[in-house]
Amino acid sequence: MSMSGADSGLFDDPRSALIFAHAAGALEPATALLAAAMADLDKSCARDLRTYEAAGGALLDQIAPAPLAPHALDDVLARLDRPAPAKAPARARPFDAELNDLPACVRRAASRSAGAGWRLLGPGVKGFDLHTGGSAQAQLLRIEPGSGAPTHSHGGVELTLCLVGAFRDERGRYGPGDLAIATPDDTHRPIAEPGPTCIALAVTDAPLRFTGWLGFLQRAFRGAE
Ligand code: ZN
Repeated sequence: MSMSGADSGLFDDPRSALIFAHAAGALEPATALLAAAMADLDKSCARDLRTYEAAGGALLDQIAPAPLAPHALDDVLARLDRPAPAKAPARARPFDAELNDLPACVRRAASRSAGAGWRLLGPGVKGFDLHTGGSAQAQLLRIEPGSGAPTHSHGGVELTLCLVGAFRDERGRYGPGDLAIATPDDTHRPIAEPGPTCIALAVTDAPLRFTGWLGFLQRAFRGAE
């Protein structure tokens, strides 16, 4: 397990802090997705999640239930009766088979992201924006062995959870279930290790700032985006 960066306050381990906040329902959707995927890939995270959820449930049991509004049940049933929105026609997309290897919560987020798909971010690197809602952005990264994201710094915190394969940056190696945390102080260049194509889930709370020539282009064309 590798990690660095963020000071999580109450918890020494940022992973535990994320899992606790997820159990408390305190994370926004993109980060909640990352925490759920982490629990799917890592037994100790799954165990922590169950413990925190059970503790939360026990607390809720001690709170007297509030009376339901009149017709509340009818309202819920009426909502259930509404027809589901029409699904977009299925399209064969490249790499769909690779999505099958990902945690179920990530697969569901990808299938809900209608209109999204893999787009080229650079040589050997593709990105898939997940439409989770909220202010943080979730993106799947698909990095072919030996390829890497461009060197970049961060306007905010970036959490990158390795799902399949492995990647390495200046601070260490990250395999399935490992979480890389980058803060505004960090500049790095993640590169996929030899072996299976690396797929990672990256959550950022601010746009990435690219350095070097790509950064120059990004600044030059920001107004044209
Ligand atoms: Zn980064």
